[in-house]
Amino acid sequence: MFKKKGQNDSFTIDAGGKPIPVGGLRVKLPTIGWVKTYEGLPHTTTTKISISRIADDWYIAFAYEVDCVESPKTHDVVGVDIGVKELATLSTGAVFPNPKAYKKNIQKLKRLSASHTRKAKGSNNRHKSKIKLALHHNRVSNIRKDSLHKVTNYLCKNHAVIVIEDLNVSGMMQNHKLAQSIADCGFYEFKRQLEYKCKKFGSTLMVVDRWYPSSKTCSRCGCKKDSLSLSERVYSCEHCRYVLDRDLKAAINLSRLAKA
Ligand SMILES: [Zn+2]
Repeated sequence: MFKKKGQNDSFTIDAGGKPIPVGGLRVKLPTIGWVKTYEGLPHTTTTKISISRIADDWYIAFAYEVDCVESPKTHDVVGVDIGVKELATLSTGAVFPNPKAYKKNIQKLKRLSASHTRKAKGSNNRHKSKIKLALHHNRVSNIRKDSLHKVTNYLCKNHAVIVIEDLNVSGMMQNHKLAQSIADCGFYEFKRQLEYKCKKFGSTLMVVDRWYPSSKTCSRCGCKKDSLSLSERVYSCEHCRYVLDRDLKAAINLSRLAKA
C-alpha cells in the first residue's frame, strides 16, 4: 500500500466509490477504523481520502463540493502585491504583515538545518535531527498557510476582481535572498487558495503575465524605469516626481489592469 518507506509516506483509500461521511473531530476510515483529528472537519461526504505522513504526524485530505456563497463586495477591483517586506500589500492601502511567529521560526529552521548537516551520515543522531527538522519545517509552512488563509478570505469575500502578478520563480531563484522570500510568501499556496475561494465567494481572479513591469512603472504618469533594485523600497518617478511605497504602487498598477 505504501509507495515507499521513509520520511514521507502517503496512500489513498476509498469505499469502492461509495460516499464516506466525514465531519467533526473523528472520521471512520474504510478498513482502518476510527481516527481522531486535530482540527474539526466540515460535515460532508467524500469518495476518496488521502492519508500522508510528514515526519511523525499523520494527515488526512479529501475533496468535497462547496456551495457558492455570494457575499456582497465592498470593492470592485483589488490589486495585490505579495512580497518581500510584507506578506501582502493591497491597492486599497490595506497591508497584511508577515506574522512575527513566522520570522522567529524561520530563524530556528536555519539553526536546525545547520545542526543537521553537522551530524555524521547514517548516525542515529542524524536520523533524529532529520525528523526534528521535518517537523519544524512543517510547523513553519503551517504558520505561513494560516496567515495566507486570512489574506485570501478577506480578498475573496470583499472584492469582485482580484488581480495578482504571476511569478517568474525560476529566474528569481538565482538570487539567493529572494529565493528565501519567495519560499516565505508561498506564492503557489496563495494562488491555490485564491482559486478555490474565488469560486466559493463568487469573485474573479486575474493573473497578470509575469513580464508586466508593475514594480517599474509609475502609477501616476505610466513611465517605466529601466531597472529597480530590490533594496529600493520607495519608488520615486524621475519624470513626474511621484513618490510611493513600491509594494503599494505595484498593487495599484495591477488593479488598473483590470479596469483598463
Ligand atoms: Zn511618473
